[in-house]
Amino acid sequence: MTELTKFPVIDGHMDTVTRILKQNRVFSEFSENGHYDLPRMKKGNVQAALFALFPLNTMNNVINGLDLWFTLVSNPINGLKQVKTIEDFDRIKDIGMKGAILHFEGAGGIDDDFRILRIGYHLGLRTMGLTWANINKFGTGAKFGTRQRKTGLTDKGRDLIAEAQSLGITIDVSHLNDPSFWDVYEITERPIIATHSNARSITNHPRNLTDDQIKAIHEKHGTIGINFSMGFLNSENPGKDNIDLGFDIIKNHIDHMISLADINIVAMGSDFDGTSVPNCVKDCTTFPLLWDYLLKNGYSEQDIDKISHGNLLRVFKETWK
Ligand SMILES: [Zn+2]
Repeated sequence: MTELTKFPVIDGHMDTVTRILKQNRVFSEFSENGHYDLPRMKKGNVQAALFALFPLNTMNNVINGLDLWFTLVSNPINGLKQVKTIEDFDRIKDIGMKGAILHFEGAGGIDDDFRILRIGYHLGLRTMGLTWANINKFGTGAKFGTRQRKTGLTDKGRDLIAEAQSLGITIDVSHLNDPSFWDVYEITERPIIATHSNARSITNHPRNLTDDQIKAIHEKHGTIGINFSMGFLNSENPGKDNIDLGFDIIKNHIDHMISLADINIVAMGSDFDGTSVPNCVKDCTTFPLLWDYLLKNGYSEQDIDKISHGNLLRVFKETWK
């Protein structure tokens, strides 16, 4: 039998930095609450994750967020090490620590001269989305309801993307509305990622990606992190919670993306500590159970290597400089 914990995970999205403050738990200790802590990362063999900062709609939010981020990541008791280079992924493995990648979920707090962007880069910012569900001076996010805004990227948003890509920051298209997505697609020269989005053909929700968008990300050699949020998985009642959704529905999203592209399109983007998830993937200890299900249902060990970490790592190699 395959040793299921042999697949290290790079998780494309989690919200533990801000969530943990609102719950009675500490990162260094195992908890039944929330989805992520150090002991649970070890149990699920999560090697690294994009530790997202949110909300970031003002410069003050960015400063507060960075303070929280570095307070969590730099405390030795938490067993974390910041990942800023591709080599860091191997280094953290060698020293038995877990990797934290600084991610901005929304860019609204970045000034018009992009000083915060450049300072962020020097602090290790390596991936960034332009918006959350809101609209800001750079672009327009997808609302959670059916009525959607029609605007896309602004001129400033196009400039921000060019500056971020030239610095070596990976552009994240999750949360963008459709016009903003296609504007990003048109101007990006490097691979793009959707860190935490599913397939809209399977679950008709504006936070999920259309078939054409999935193909477009593939064309750019990008990848898509599967989101465990019940509302984005639930194909019968999109947007609605159903705690009993099983691994089969997660596999449906994976199968569909691969049918439009290939195995290089699928990564992990749990959204842990940012959303509510079904019992089958109750926290970050459950990744090996997903590998078990996929291995028993047509996927190879090479496939799991790509889905669990290889595809995200490939995109980081092509976008970080
Ligand atoms: Zn999100």
